[in-house]
Amino acid sequence: MIIVMKADILPESPEVADVIRLAERYPDVRAVARKIEGATRVLTEVYLLGSTSTLPQEPFEEFPAVEKVIRIRERYRSIGRHAGQVEAIGFEYNGVRFSQDDFHIFPGLCAVDTPENTEAMFRALKAVGVVTTRAGAYKPRTSPYDFQGHGKACLPYVFELAGRYGIRVIAMEITHEAQIDEIRQALAAAGQCTGVMLQIGTRNAQNFELLKAVGQQREFPVLFKRGMGITLDESLNACEYVANSGNNRILFCLRGMKTQLGEPHRNLVDFGHVPVVRRLTRLPVCIDPSHSVGKKDVAPDGILDIAHVTAQGIIAGANMVLVDFHPKPEQALCDGPQALLLNELDYFLRDAQLVRKAYLERCALRATIGGGATLTDQR
Ligand code: PEP
Ligand code: MN
Repeated sequence: MIIVMKADILPESPEVADVIRLAERYPDVRAVARKIEGATRVLTEVYLLGSTSTLPQEPFEEFPAVEKVIRIRERYRSIGRHAGQVEAIGFEYNGVRFSQDDFHIFPGLCAVDTPENTEAMFRALKAVGVVTTRAGAYKPRTSPYDFQGHGKACLPYVFELAGRYGIRVIAMEITHEAQIDEIRQALAAAGQCTGVMLQIGTRNAQNFELLKAVGQQREFPVLFKRGMGITLDESLNACEYVANSGNNRILFCLRGMKTQLGEPHRNLVDFGHVPVVRRLTRLPVCIDPSHSVGKKDVAPDGILDIAHVTAQGIIAGANMVLVDFHPKPEQALCDGPQALLLNELDYFLRDAQLVRKAYLERCALRATIGGGATLTDQR
């Protein structure tokens, strides 16, 4: 059950304490208050956990500070979009706002290799006014003999350069919880000149201890990548571990599914699930066209498959695009064949914005026939 408090009631307020006190008078019920930054307002929700199925709603509805009481489905208790709950989960991090209404592109290095390439990447981003990027320091590789990333050794120059070129958020994968501290310390040493979004890679989608660790800290938002060989339901449940541990500043990323049926692409592109994740959860949805397609093949219209699938995700409502670029892809130590060139950056961004505009026009067109959004799949 979720108790939605009226506007301006903070999690620390006496009104919330009253609700929690009443809830915890019932046997085996635990209550947690969370601040939700919705698209239009900030509000507090109190989550009642444990034996809540027989809990009456009325005593909670009687509190003057309670707006409404929502009985939630068992599935996706924290990240789910439950009947009657209209606020999507949004948040601001280091001056950048993320929600199901926002849109950002994170072009950048799959893996950090040299300070020179990192600087060339960031300089190119600044030239086109982009403040969000990706930069892998800790790389989970299929073979132990492949480049594993420079790890914490590269963080000082990555953060210093990010600050210098006005980068506000870097999506950076972590493979072990100890790396959260390494990132925190390096950011402090660099004077907090940039921000980091902790990326959970597809290979760690069910590493529950790592998910709990990123959920227990609230400093950094989390980019959760769908597991490549598990169902969407299993990935959403795994993602629920992050929110359930206390951090609901999460983006859910689609990155293609591992199956030979996706060939000749690296993975079977799953961006048809963008509206599904937006409907089942309140999280902003990211797409990763680079790891989905994995190569720079060009269609007869001259457009790269990577740009085509990017458009497919954006036209369906994606809120973020994570995409590989490299100044010299032939020298890249990881995933060079799928990296776009810096001189393709401006074109890629313009193409993506064109499609985003078309998506917004589609929404406006839909709104003209009335009825608003309908939530049909409430499983
Ligand atoms: C990545 O984004 O660098 C990556 C390894 O992606 P994934 O976990 O989706 O394979
Ligand atoms: Mn990669």
